[in-house]
Amino acid sequence: MSIDFGNDIYEEPIVAKTFLEEDAGEVSLRPKTLKDYIGQEKAKQNLAIFIEAARKRTEPLDHVLLHGPPGLGKTTLAGIIAQEMGVNIRITSGPAIEKPGDLAALLTNLGENDILFVDEIHRLNRSVEEILYPAMEDYALDIIVGKGPSANSIRLDLPKFTLIGATTRAGQLSAPLRDRFGVTLRLELYRPEELALIVKRSAGILSVPIEDDGAMEIARRSRGTPRIANRMLRRVRDFAQVKADGTITMPVANEALCALEIDHLGLDPIDRRMLKAIIDNYGGGPVGLETLAATIGEEAVTLEDVYEPYLMQLGFLTRTPRGRCVTPKAYTHLGLVIPGGADAPEQLTL
Ligand code: ADP
Repeated sequence: MSIDFGNDIYEEPIVAKTFLEEDAGEVSLRPKTLKDYIGQEKAKQNLAIFIEAARKRTEPLDHVLLHGPPGLGKTTLAGIIAQEMGVNIRITSGPAIEKPGDLAALLTNLGENDILFVDEIHRLNRSVEEILYPAMEDYALDIIVGKGPSANSIRLDLPKFTLIGATTRAGQLSAPLRDRFGVTLRLELYRPEELALIVKRSAGILSVPIEDDGAMEIARRSRGTPRIANRMLRRVRDFAQVKADGTITMPVANEALCALEIDHLGLDPIDRRMLKAIIDNYGGGPVGLETLAATIGEEAVTLEDVYEPYLMQLGFLTRTPRGRCVTPKAYTHLGLVIPGGADAPEQLTL
């Protein structure tokens, strides 16, 4: 997508799965304490208790697994846990740890009670994962010294530490790894009222004047995801500065988001293409994920991790054992006639 916004051309989709260059400013928008972390009440309540208990015992927090779609605040939460525990955090990711030696180096450099945060932990390779088991369980590293019959296993003690793993796909974690996490927290998509608070907080940090209904307009269209809400805020801010007096009002937010082809529910052109492809090419489904991805020229993982959770939350898409199906609600949203509906016979060609 390329949108001409006066002098600025935006090439990146707002709903991108990955961290975009423009998200670099995210660090300053990250809440630093549990109090500032908006929403996710269930996860927060549980964490607050575990943190207090661990602090009272002056022990490290149990290993924590955070799962949920991208951009919901897993990395942010890990930073907050470190802050609340008063310990250091080292941040890495599954694909970045290529060899067992890489992980051993990370672990031996941790201080007592420190936190190791591993993003995309489901992408750790098997040989690295095996080093993690004794490390998580006994705070120990098993190292093989020598080769062949004279090879010896030496056990090295590690400092007590907390592993925080984040994943968009808890189902892909191996059972032995999953079982070694004492705390598993699932992050949910945010409600618009919560996102409006996040947008107002971010606008405050960025010194952008914003009205309540302007914040709500962005919130309603950011598909339950704080990262997307913050991205939209930045683009609407540009629009407000170029085309209006700098304040984000509801009409300004609406006009900016329409120009970005984001509809009133937050669906972008890829969401609509995905739903239309299931309707036009596969009679509304079921269709397999890989087939669908190939049809619209996107990656299957992107559709599954980024697009489907929100479409399913809206009740526009269902996953069945035979594939993805579009619901009548989606037909209505796209302005199409529902097959089998009252006036369907003449208009079945969608
Ligand atoms: P994830 O690790 O799940 O992909 P991040 O922790 O990187 O997500 O969050 C993305 C951005 O969204 C953060 O920079 C932060 O500004 C914002 N954010 C996430 N969760 C919250 C929250 N609960 N309250 C306020 N801002 C949040």
